[in-house]
Amino acid sequence: MNYNLHFVDRCNTNNRLSDQRFPLIASKVIIQLSEKHYDAIVVGAGPAGSSVARKAAEQGVNVLIIDRKREIGYPMQCGELVPTVEEFPNILPRAKRAEKLFNLPKWVISNTCSRVAVIGPSKKIHEFNFGQNILDRSRFDKWLVMNATKAGAELWTCCNAIKVESDGREVLAKKEGKIIRLKANVLVAADGPSSNMAKNLGLGSNDPKDLIVTMEYFMGGVDIDADLTEVYFGKEYAPGGYAWIIPKGEGMANVGLGIRTSFSERGVSLKDYIERFISKHPIASKKFQKGVILSRTGGLVPVGGPIEKTYSENAIVVGDAAGQVMATNGGGIPPAVICGDIGGEAIAQKLRGENDLSFYEKEWKSEVGKELDTGVKIRKIVDIALRNDKLAERILEIFEGKIVREVILCRLSMPLNLVYKTVMGLRQSLKVLKR
Ligand SMILES: Cc1cc2nc3c(=O)[nH]c(=O)nc-3n(C[C@H](O)[C@H](O)[C@H](O)COP(=O)(O)OP(=O)(O)OC[C@H]3O[C@@H](n4cnc5c(N)ncnc54)[C@H](O)[C@@H]3O)c2cc1C
Repeated sequence: MNYNLHFVDRCNTNNRLSDQRFPLIASKVIIQLSEKHYDAIVVGAGPAGSSVARKAAEQGVNVLIIDRKREIGYPMQCGELVPTVEEFPNILPRAKRAEKLFNLPKWVISNTCSRVAVIGPSKKIHEFNFGQNILDRSRFDKWLVMNATKAGAELWTCCNAIKVESDGREVLAKKEGKIIRLKANVLVAADGPSSNMAKNLGLGSNDPKDLIVTMEYFMGGVDIDADLTEVYFGKEYAPGGYAWIIPKGEGMANVGLGIRTSFSERGVSLKDYIERFISKHPIASKKFQKGVILSRTGGLVPVGGPIEKTYSENAIVVGDAAGQVMATNGGGIPPAVICGDIGGEAIAQKLRGENDLSFYEKEWKSEVGKELDTGVKIRKIVDIALRNDKLAERILEIFEGKIVREVILCRLSMPLNLVYKTVMGLRQSLKVLKR
């Protein structure tokens, strides 16, 4: 008996998913009335989950991908910046699959930039070259999930995973007010920075003290260089993090900041900080005089590094859920897509009996593990500077140009302990001067 009713989910009929561009997504939405068994269930249709689903489906795995969102990729919570294909060897040099995965179609890119400016607390500008694609993130996420459904994966939107049972072989989910039990051989936890699935699996979670809280405005009418991304440091505007202006073209920009609450002033909210940045920062505020806020967003960015174990016998954890983020720049899209692709391959290998899921962890560590680890170590050193604007400025002066670029890109050509010793030495000398 077939209990599956195939029709367009009512929650999508009047929104942008009905757009002609996404017929595959709409036609794949199904209401599940009874138990059905899948090879793999992916929780979360962000960059990580969609990449797992696509790769696994391409290799013949029967995949269901579920997301609690009504529309994939919306609301958008992102600065939307990814390196150009040409820059991947500089940022994730061992990620052999990056070139193929980030060969993006034009319709998911809003703008391209070639330079980054880092503005320190004393407002001195340090500029370097770095090729960036500024995405239309909402389209990018739709493109990724569409590639998964094209490869044969099934997608359910408006479906909230509640609980994992039987070590990943069963998921309880809520869809249209009904609780459904879904069964699979493998579960993928790709449910973002506050992952409940990873916790349920007993695989740990991102430490709350290592979560950057962010707020971002999408602004129009701003007076900026469309080829330049700007990054601002300083305790007054972005304590424990940084502020950014990412140009989307045509005088539009993502203007945001991320802070850590342990660094911030008592009684000053995230909104206060972003308003202060836009209206009072001596350099940035001039760019917003005719600016208008078109939308607001925000979210969490895990910068504490990957969780200790990212697989069990029947499950893997991918993307933000696994803490796979570059800690000094908050970039999580490249690792999510790369680790997702590896995850899909690992699932196919497990189901063919060629490997267990430890292959997933071994492989993502070999492609991006070193850079993610280095990023966390650099971030811990940067944290020392973020507590003291004078120290931050001295460091920016000493580590001019090349090193500033390397810090932002999570890679250092000089030994980490030398950087650490220099920072501690500078801190000590500033203390002596103060006395
Ligand atoms: C303000 C901000 C700016 C950022 N800017 C950048 C940037 O410029 N460049 C960059 O590389 N990275 C950036 N990041 C980080 C980047 O957005 C993430 O690293 C990336 O989205 C990780 O992808 P993911 O698939 O792991 O998680 P997500 O994109 O968070 O996807 C998780 C999905 O899981 C779904 N989900 C969650 N729980 C459930 C559940 N119980 N049941 C069903 N579905 C569920 C969610 O709806 C979501 O669709 C930024 C983050 C923030 C917050």
